[in-house]
Amino acid sequence: MTNSKPENPDARNAEPLTLSNFLRDQIASDVEKKTYGDAVIQTRFPPEPNGYLHIGHAKAICIDFGLADEFGGKTNLRFDDTNPEKEEQEYVDSIMADVRWLGFEWDRLCYASDYFGQLYEWALKLIKEGKAYVDDLTADEIRQHRGTLTEPGKNSPYRERPVEENLDLFVRMKNGEFPDGSRVLRAKIDMASPNLNMRDPVMYRILHAEHHRTGNEWCIYPMYDYAHGQSDSIENVTHSMCTLEFADHQPLYRWYIEQLGIFPSRQFEFDRLNLTYTMLSKRKLLQLVTEKRVNGWDDPRMPTISGIRRRGFTPEALRAFVAAVGASRTNGSQDIEMLEHFQRDDLNHRAHRAMAVLRPLKLVIDNYPEGEEFVEVANNPEDPSAGTRQVPFSRELYIEQDDFREVPPPKYYRLSPGKEVRLRNAYFITAQSVVKDAEGNIVEVHCTYDPASRGGNSPDGRKVKSTMHWVSARHALSAEVRLYEHLFSKPDPFDFPEGGDLFDNLNPNSLEVIPDAKLEPSLAAAKVGDHFQFERVGYFCLDPDSTGEKKVFNRTLALKDTWAKIEKKAAV
Ligand code: ATP
Ligand code: MG
Repeated sequence: MTNSKPENPDARNAEPLTLSNFLRDQIASDVEKKTYGDAVIQTRFPPEPNGYLHIGHAKAICIDFGLADEFGGKTNLRFDDTNPEKEEQEYVDSIMADVRWLGFEWDRLCYASDYFGQLYEWALKLIKEGKAYVDDLTADEIRQHRGTLTEPGKNSPYRERPVEENLDLFVRMKNGEFPDGSRVLRAKIDMASPNLNMRDPVMYRILHAEHHRTGNEWCIYPMYDYAHGQSDSIENVTHSMCTLEFADHQPLYRWYIEQLGIFPSRQFEFDRLNLTYTMLSKRKLLQLVTEKRVNGWDDPRMPTISGIRRRGFTPEALRAFVAAVGASRTNGSQDIEMLEHFQRDDLNHRAHRAMAVLRPLKLVIDNYPEGEEFVEVANNPEDPSAGTRQVPFSRELYIEQDDFREVPPPKYYRLSPGKEVRLRNAYFITAQSVVKDAEGNIVEVHCTYDPASRGGNSPDGRKVKSTMHWVSARHALSAEVRLYEHLFSKPDPFDFPEGGDLFDNLNPNSLEVIPDAKLEPSLAAAKVGDHFQFERVGYFCLDPDSTGEKKVFNRTLALKDTWAKIEKKAAV
């Protein structure tokens, strides 16, 4: 069979990011005013390789890459690898794969660790100019000296160390003469500054730890604030965009660059993406993985890019969602239904239709001859170019258990004794009788069909109220189907009582496995990542756990679009 349309291999050019926001205005004005002369707009995406990227990072990626693209600029992928204890190559690899999957390609691949030598030289320069000093206070003492928002800090007794002594001690820190935590290098700024980040921030700490790239070359490592701005400057980054929690760090970002007299990169902050029913703390996501509360970083319930991808989300939908969400200067939270709406919209155009019965009930057509026939079915009614396929039909079929009621409740229009319905693309049938097992459960429904209604319409113009999907029993493909719900059962996963725990809010029904669903046989040709709409059921994609013998399908989303409803309500 032909499969669903491939995801756009050149997604980068698919549709312009229509983020209308202050970041674009800022860049446009800098281009116009030639703030950086004729230099190109340069941005960077700076993940710390201490976990997998999540949907919040997707927003940052779209902003960093998307805005640079719009202005003919360039974007570097820079790993912020200043914390050797938590960083791993596995994360580096996954981050690169995720950025590319979203449809972006970096100009240069950089690592903060490439700049360790330069950062060290600059630290020596600041020491020589009396702008940095080695402090022997313990971490606790430094904290006690820092003061509070309302009280100024106190100078360290080591603050006035002579330059020569600072130089000597710093070189010896680097040479490994001192144990972890015994000394730090601090910037000498202002212990009374109203901004706590400016109260002599730590620049370097001693850490005898092996680094994923520099091995044991270094036993002092720069702090984020000392490394980030200077790394931007080294790469001639014009617009360093990050999330709002770094706004208080901006004066320090500028201070280092000004003291060193290097390329004047500037930082701009935007709001973090938050989603209902979703938790985006890397540390907590790691905990979900290590405590095996999910099946790895790419569990389809995870908000990681790899999880979302495996679930069947597409880069086009993620980018369209991020563009619609935009960027602002205040943090908020988005309804997850909005993301789902963008995904349904994309899959509705892209995914081929197929028939799949998740909870099968045998249906026998008593007046249908032995043998089989094939009915022609459109692959995607939204897209005539997707073509048609032949689906086998025979005397014994499967229908959904939910599509039959022996005693129909009011307004139940599906199959019940004496009632006539349409089998999609096939025939009208009328239920006649049921067969039950010893416990009284219905195991078979018997019906008759109207041979004149082939194709799904009766020549006498008779109407039926319901159209049902079906799969020929003899031809059916048995498959495992995994149904997902939100990972957390509360809109705000952090809403738990005192003494409670985030993980108390995990949704116990977030995964339901259907071991033996019955699928139309064309799905045997599905490839990993192919998307389908199982008619009347939802959007699905083939999971990499599939083998030659057993296919596994993930439900990306059910069909019901609750966001459309929310919007309609809001409009009234
Ligand atoms: P942590 O600092 O706790 O390890 P982080 O999520 O900030 O986690 P980074 O690797 O530092 O992870 O993030 C890389 C970039 O992605 C940063 O510029 C950060 O501002 C941005 N980013 C992280 N989370 C979000 C989010 N929820 N929404 C938008 N951007 C985000
Ligand atoms: Mg961070």
